Amino acid sequence: VPDGRTHDAITVVGALVAVPAWWFLTDEPRDWLTCGTLAGSILFSGLMLSPDLDLDSSIYQRWGPLKFLWWPYQKLVPHRSILSHSLLGALLRVVYFLALVWGLSHLLSWGVATAKLGSIRPLDSPLETFQSLYRSERRHLELGLIGLLIGTALHTGADTVVSSLKRKRR
Ligand SMILES: [Zn+2]
Repeated sequence: VPDGRTHDAITVVGALVAVPAWWFLTDEPRDWLTCGTLAGSILFSGLMLSPDLDLDSSIYQRWGPLKFLWWPYQKLVPHRSILSHSLLGALLRVVYFLALVWGLSHLLSWGVATAKLGSIRPLDSPLETFQSLYRSERRHLELGLIGLLIGTALHTGADTVVSSLKRKRR
């Protein structure tokens, strides 16, 4: 399978190609912020939310002090399974990540209140976040999700192509 650097390069090229593709597929007046959302979410998807978070990879290390967030995911999801290396996997990672951050914000808010240090409002649940984004930023939400799926499709596509080429060579 391709190494992490190859996947990174494919991700960057994918994000760059998405810009003219978006330009051709949209009409005037163009909202460049949606283009930024698309390219940005392809980059984020490939560089930070990559399917290879299912093992101790360069992607996992990239999360630095926050990599503990992905530790349960890494242990639970078998490497290169359909749960990580599919479009469903991309959505699963987003929901997993938002749910974990939401849970931690509740824990933090509870801890701060218990220690009588003041009060922190916990984050909205992932579902509430999606609902309010859908109401106010629907176009950006859609392109963000498309970019996320493209990022994972590029990864799994490259994995599939390279491993079938290797099989043929043998
Ligand atoms: Zn992979």
